[in-house]
Amino acid sequence: MNVTALARKIRITTTELLDILPQLGFDIGKRAIKVDDRTAQKIIAEWPRFKKKLAYIKVQEEKKKEEEEQRLSEGKREVTIPATITVKEFAALAELNVSKVLSELMKNGIFVSMNEKIDADTAMIIGEELYLDVKVSETNEKKDVSETKIKDILANEKKSDLIQRAPVIVVMGHVDHGKTKLLDAIRKTDVVAGESGGITQHIGAYQIDHNNNKITFIDTPGHEVFTAMRSRGAKIADVAILVVAADDGVKPQTVEAYRIIEQSKVPFVVAINKIDKPDADIDRTKSELSNKLKIIPEDWGGKIICQPISALKGDGVDELLDSILLLVEMDQEKIVANPNASAMGTIIESHIDRGEGSVATILIQNGTLRAGDVVLLNEQPLGRVRVMKDYKGELLVEAGPSMPVLITGLKIMPAIGDIIEVSSGDKKVRLNKIRKNTQSNKTQQIAEADSDDVSKVNVIIKSDVLGSAEAIEESLEKLNTKDVKARVVKKGLGAITESDVEQALASGAVVIGFHVTTPQSVQLLARDKGVEIKHYDVVYELVDYIKEKMKAVLGIEISRVDLGTLNVIAMFKTEQKSQIIGCKVEEGIVEINAKVEVLRGEEFITDGKIEMLQAGKQDVKQVETGQECGIQFKGQPLIKIGDTLKVYKEEEIRKTM
Ligand code: GDP
Repeated sequence: MNVTALARKIRITTTELLDILPQLGFDIGKRAIKVDDRTAQKIIAEWPRFKKKLAYIKVQEEKKKEEEEQRLSEGKREVTIPATITVKEFAALAELNVSKVLSELMKNGIFVSMNEKIDADTAMIIGEELYLDVKVSETNEKKDVSETKIKDILANEKKSDLIQRAPVIVVMGHVDHGKTKLLDAIRKTDVVAGESGGITQHIGAYQIDHNNNKITFIDTPGHEVFTAMRSRGAKIADVAILVVAADDGVKPQTVEAYRIIEQSKVPFVVAINKIDKPDADIDRTKSELSNKLKIIPEDWGGKIICQPISALKGDGVDELLDSILLLVEMDQEKIVANPNASAMGTIIESHIDRGEGSVATILIQNGTLRAGDVVLLNEQPLGRVRVMKDYKGELLVEAGPSMPVLITGLKIMPAIGDIIEVSSGDKKVRLNKIRKNTQSNKTQQIAEADSDDVSKVNVIIKSDVLGSAEAIEESLEKLNTKDVKARVVKKGLGAITESDVEQALASGAVVIGFHVTTPQSVQLLARDKGVEIKHYDVVYELVDYIKEKMKAVLGIEISRVDLGTLNVIAMFKTEQKSQIIGCKVEEGIVEINAKVEVLRGEEFITDGKIEMLQAGKQDVKQVETGQECGIQFKGQPLIKIGDTLKVYKEEEIRKTM
């Protein structure tokens, strides 16, 4: 049937028809000329009902608009915040949904998680859009934990005890712009490492010697790990390298990485990479840096060193290292430590090894760590350092400031970003406290997980490295709304095990393997118990899957759609649980199976359902305004002549995210 013919038939214009069809669930396209006959018949037959539905939708929209206007008329709400604030805290102060704040940030090109901090300027910019009057309190500035911790420690050290330590460098930038390649290239410039055969162990960081200067590089993929560390307050880098590919320019993660660098106030250099490629354009990259990020290169009159390099060929890498040392020189008085103090440092990688148990990489930030030392986290013992190795796999007896070391022997696996210390005076820390602590933590976690009544999708994540699990957890957190949450009930390393399946069964969780496998015996167990196991190699696919799950548990909202008003004009038969009556449709329509509210004047009498509907002795499905009809009412037989029947139906609307 032609769309115009259909529109004529239901007495609306063609444009109106094309506009409303999607709302009714028929997506035939804005420019459709014809509509298939079945759809057309359905639309014609159900038009009166659709008309009601549309009216209902319109009312809802108007209500929303009114609320919005009311909000605007109340004026801007004043919110006072500290100089930096996490997105979650900001949302709470502004009495807004976290997702609303996150989406406003995203509109402004700022991609952060709800636990990350934004500065006051950013808050003010998005505040405009959110109709807030954002003010900054001068006193209330919170400091990064580790920053103050290490500052406190250094402030208490005698000046004469402090020595220069190796600077710690972090590499950030958009995916595929060459961060890993650059870290490889830098590693290769180290003659000493080269001589020992160049075989190095991946421990999350390494140290090189450049013209007799030691430099430590954090060697972790992507900036997820850096973000995770920062959100825990572990500021570890002295200088950052922002990598931008000359053939691709400034991309979303370049922007994100730069925001993190800016907020951390770390000095940085830009490495313009892949200059060997035929489509590389250094000038275009520089102008994108200037225009999009306000990073003005030094040779354009700005302050930021932008070094063209080819990580693939090694070109420009030496110069890049020279520029880093230049920045370090300017910050020299900050890059110090006391090697004779008791050790403290930050965990940059951790995993469980089948043979060795918990294995962690610590970047030492002050003092010297020795094999046999008892390591503490928040004053609780984690275990004793059994074996300590450097990134070349060589055994160490002790390790000083800025050295990344792999340690084994801990009874509890610390997480990335944890700040650990070595007990200084009190040598009698009892390791048997450990078991008790983990136990109570676990129970607490489960109690927390069950405390609120939002719908939840429980997830167990197993991954190859802990950094991925943390990144996944952060991405899932971003999906949370006030109605539904994804909750990571457990995350761990390595293949999916029987105990994962047992725990999934107990907590109703789905088990996700990221870059890990599942032994067949475990798969069979999962199938027997009805536990779902999924494997992924790509984060966004995993996130999409959980999002679908979240939508599915959101549930259904019942909404009332008013159909019409009838007047009772005759009584034919009254039985124990039903009545047959005659009515006139005063307004709207009446449909078979619709629900009914019986009113006498304003007073509610009873309610029930329309079981049979007749017009002129014929069974019909529907009767319209002005017509008379016979109705079999199912319910308490209390209806009298003169009563009003309000006819309505209930529609199930699936809640959306
Ligand atoms: P990451 O995701 O930032 O760690 O990027 P990778 O280091 O994995 O590099 C992504 C791709 O770009 C890889 O195929 C690299 O071989 C390639 N690549 C990295 N640096 C260069 C470069 O300087 N020149 C060229 N031609 N390719 C490069």
